[in-house]
Order: sequence, then C-alpha cells, then structure tokens
Amino acid sequence: MKFIDPHIHMYSRTTDDYEKMALAGIRTVIEPSFWLGQERTSSDTLKDYWEYLISFEKNRASEFGINHYCAISVNPKEANNKEFAENSLLIIKDYLQRESVVALGEIGFDLISKQEEKIFRKQLLLANELEIPVIIHTPHINKLEGTKRTFEIIKEMQIDQSRIIVDHNNEDTIELSLSHDVCCGITVYPNTKLSSFRAVNIMKKYGTDRILINSSADWGISDPLSVPKTALEMELNGFSQNEIEKVLYNNPNSFFKQSNKYNSTEQK
Ligand SMILES: [Zn+2]
Repeated sequence: MKFIDPHIHMYSRTTDDYEKMALAGIRTVIEPSFWLGQERTSSDTLKDYWEYLISFEKNRASEFGINHYCAISVNPKEANNKEFAENSLLIIKDYLQRESVVALGEIGFDLISKQEEKIFRKQLLLANELEIPVIIHTPHINKLEGTKRTFEIIKEMQIDQSRIIVDHNNEDTIELSLSHDVCCGITVYPNTKLSSFRAVNIMKKYGTDRILINSSADWGISDPLSVPKTALEMELNGFSQNEIEKVLYNNPNSFFKQSNKYNSTEQK
C-alpha cells in the first residue's frame, strides 16, 4: 500500500530514514516550516532554510522515489519575536510562489500569546488572498483552549475552511475540529504522546472523513514510520484496505490537490 505523510520535518532526519520510509510505502511527504531548536538571529536565515526545503530536501527525497513538497511560514514559536516575525513576513510572499511550496504553514498558537495571534492572523489573511492551503498547528499545552481560539479566529476572519488543516488533534479536540469544515490532522508519536492505538480509537469513534494521520517527525523523539505503523494498527483493528487507503493516502492527496503546484498523479 502507498502512503502520504502530510506533516514531517525531514530537515532533521537522516537519509537512512528516507530509505526506510520508501521501503514502508511512503511515496509523498509534506514538510512544513518548523522551529530550528533555538532562536534564529535574523529573518535572512529563513531564506536559507526555505531554499533548502525547496531544492536540497526535494532532491534528497527523490533519490528514494519520494515526492517532497513543503509549506512555508513564520511558525508559532518564531511569531513571538516581533521584529523577526514582521521582517519575515516581508519576504515570505516570493517563497510562497515557488515551485514545490504547496501550502502556508505551520502557523497558529504555541503559548497562545497576543503576538502569536497577530502573526497568525496576518498569515491567514495572506493564504486566503493567495487561495492556498494552510496547515495550522495546535499547542501542546492548553491544546483545547488554543484550538477553540483558532476556530474563533478562522470564523471571525471568514477564512475558507476547506483549505485548512487543523493539526495535532487528540481526544480532547477532535470533536470540535470535525464540527468545522477543515481537515483534521492527528499526529502519531511514539511513547508519551498520541500512539497509533489511540489514533485508531479516535477513528473508530469518529470515522475517517477529513482525518489525516502524520508523524510530525523532527529531531525530538518521533517516528518517521508513524503513518505505515498506523496502517498496520488499523488493519489489526478491522479497518478495510479501502478505509486505510482513504485515510493514509486519499484524504491528504485530495487536500493538497487544492494547490496547483501539487501533482496528485506523480506519486505512483
Ligand atoms: Zn510540525
């Protein structure tokens, strides 16, 4: 079976991971912009990072037959540095037009601060103007509060919900997210956070419409094989091959097809 991982940070993974992912059936990945692990000293460093995602990372993936697309943004943690964030927004538009950039993201709340909200709103507006998909991060702490606030803003700004992924849902937020017209990401992490078993239980309860499963793998404890491992867990829990394919391939494929730079026929 073929899979798409709609949220993974390959920048912090090894080439060996690409090989394992390809062997496990992953054919396409979407890589959103993330926090470097320490504060950036200048928005100019984002130019290097975005350029890296658009060119080097795409080539590295293609050596294993994996299609690599990216999403770029000023991410939630970086939004708190006012000067940095404002400067970054001045240069982001050119990069959003680039060839393999299929979305704006990830954006949203981390600490749920006023400054984060300001930058979040500006980027939502930009995505809406350009009519491109958006990946929205929900905070790890105070997740429900951050998710509620996210939807208040989306509704107030009247952003087209069909072009939005609200990501990192768990048992506390999934009902709220599914009650809107957005796609709902569930991130499967090893150990402490949401396991594939819990993800499968969410799907047993709420179904598979508009659900996307991702690994969000980065330099932390995470697993670039979360998506194929969820396929196995789904199979063991009686989901049909069609349902597995729907969640782990068709749902993300249909979502990203909304970008005219995403080639939905490429990933065979
Ligand atoms: Zn992420």
